Formats: sequence, C-alpha cells, structure tokens
Amino acid sequence: MSQAGARIIDGKATAAALCAEVRERVLAMHARGLRPGLAVVLVGEDPASQVYVRNKDRAASEAGFEVTTLRLPSSTTQAELERVVRELNANDSVHGILVQLPLPKGLDAQRIVRTLDPRKDVDGLHPENVAALAMGTEGLRPCTPAGCIELCDRYDVALEGRRVVVLGRSMLVGKPAALLCLARNATVTIAHSRTRDLPALVREAEILIAAVGVPELVRGDWIREGAVVIDVGMNRNREGKLVGDVAFQEARQRAGAITPVPGGVGPMTIAMLLGNTARACEALSGQGPTAAATPGP
Ligand code: NAP
Repeated sequence: MSQAGARIIDGKATAAALCAEVRERVLAMHARGLRPGLAVVLVGEDPASQVYVRNKDRAASEAGFEVTTLRLPSSTTQAELERVVRELNANDSVHGILVQLPLPKGLDAQRIVRTLDPRKDVDGLHPENVAALAMGTEGLRPCTPAGCIELCDRYDVALEGRRVVVLGRSMLVGKPAALLCLARNATVTIAHSRTRDLPALVREAEILIAAVGVPELVRGDWIREGAVVIDVGMNRNREGKLVGDVAFQEARQRAGAITPVPGGVGPMTIAMLLGNTARACEALSGQGPTAAATPGP
C-alpha cells in the first residue's frame, strides 16, 4: 500500500486553466475581427441535459464565444430538427454546433449527427471525425476522451509504450479514448460487459480509463500499485451521491495518481468543447495554425 496515497489529478483546476487559455485565443480572434460562435441545441426537458447545457452556455460565454442556445420542445420532429441543424450549418456566424444528447424518444440521434457539418461538429461525433480519429488524420476529437488525454499530458503521464486498459466501448467515450491512447503509442486493451475476469485485466493496467457507468465497479484491489486511474464515470450511488466507476477511497491507496469524481474528467469535457469550438472557428475562417482541428498522431 502506498503510504502517501495517490496524487490527485485535479480536473477542475486543469479545466479552469484550459478555459483561460481558450479565452485568450478568443480575445485574439476578436482583435482580428472574428466573433467565434457556438450554437447549442437542446430538445425536450431532460433535467440532466438542462444542467449540462446551462453549464456549457455559461462557460462558453465566459470564454468570449457568442452563444446561441436553441431550446426546442420534445414534440420536435426529426425533419424539424434536421432543418434547424442545416440552418446552423449554413449560418456563417456559427462555428460550432452542439446537439445535446440523448435526444427524446422518436428522434434518431445518429441521423442528426450525420446532418451536422463535420467542420462544426465540436462534439467530434460525426462519422467523418470518427474516421479521422481512426485514421490519425486531422479532425475534431470527442471532448470527454480528449479531456482524459489532456489530463495525462498536463500531469506528465506518458502514454507511449504504457499498458492502458479502457473499460467501456461506447462511441462517446471508450472507443475514442482507446484510439487516442493508441495514437500516442500506448498498448491498449478495451474491456466491456462480456470481458472475462475484469479484475485480473485491470491489474495489468499502468493506466486505467474507466467509462462503464457502474457506480464503484472497480475496487481498490483491482488497481496495480502506482497505476494512473482516470475515472470517467458519473453515477449516483444508492445514497444519491455522485460517484465514479472506481471506488475512489480504496483505489487511491494503491494508485500513483487518480481523478476524483466530481472534479476530475467532468470539467475537462466542457474545456475541450471550448477548445474544439475555437479550433473550428480558426479553421473555418482560415485563420488557424492549420486548416483543420486537432492534429493527428
Ligand atoms: P455507455 O454507452 O452505457 O457504455 C458503457 C460501456 O461500459 C459499454 O461498453 C458496456 O459494455 C461497458 N460496461 C457496462 N457494464 C460493465 C461491466 N459490469 N463490466 C465491464 N464493462 C461494462 O456509457 P458511456 O456513455 O460510455 O459513459 C460511461 C460513463 O461515463 C457513465 O458513467 C457516464 O455518465 C460517464 N460520462 C461522463 C462524461 C463526463 O463528462 N465526465 C461524459 C460522458 C460519459 P457493452 O458494450 O458490452 O454493453
């Protein structure tokens, strides 16, 4: 057992630093006559989505973006929503478009994502951006997994040659997190609900990225001594407390470094969204360092 306990990877402070950096970039764009715009589309009344959208709206406004939040009723049809997205695609003052997921029942999220202009897809979920990630070419990367990598970078956690285990294979987190680690020359294993002997696999991880959505599934004795633990999970336990996918108090006794929940990966997601929006604006206006978003590996 590590005597001092794990180093805490502070996502809140890191995200605040990142947001301040993005604000500098946005102010520089203002000075060049550019007003970067973000459109956030919320359909329906889902309370969690309302909170997420409010937080994104506030953070983006504070960073200097022109934010337009479109709140549409849950009765919105697929055709109406696709029309809204196409209008935003065509709107030159909008550089980033975010459609808050999940969408109400009856709406096809995949089709909506495909309707987005990939250059404005700041969530990085459009098939063109997914392909760019898989191919290692330029494109907008999904915010939450990109936030995991950014935390590693800012805490000097080298990925190259390291044994990474990613728990979860969703298109939103698990798969892109694995691809991003692979792009950094990590040796990556992806685990999921059919994986056999998960504890044994996790014990091999020098870096663990947990994105399963099961409260405190990963126990302390699954953690390899000194491992870096990035906990993406945001779950309510039986007492209604927000917890991760990792039993934090147990895991911190063995880990070398660990993200808390809340205050770990969560705040990074919004910071990466702002970074993607700034990049999208620079790329669309031809003013960026490159003509597209995140460089490939
Ligand atoms: P998801 O789409 O439900 O995917 C969960 C993945 O975990 C699936 O691949 C599933 O396997 C796997 N899984 C579920 N139970 C498992 C078990 N007992 N053992 C091993 N694997 C298991 O969830 P998600 O969207 O990726 O989100 C994962 C977690 O991250 C959630 O807690 C979510 O709230 C959180 N999250 C946080 C942020 C943030 O900003 N911090 C952003 C997004 C998501 P199968 O594929 O076999 O079903």
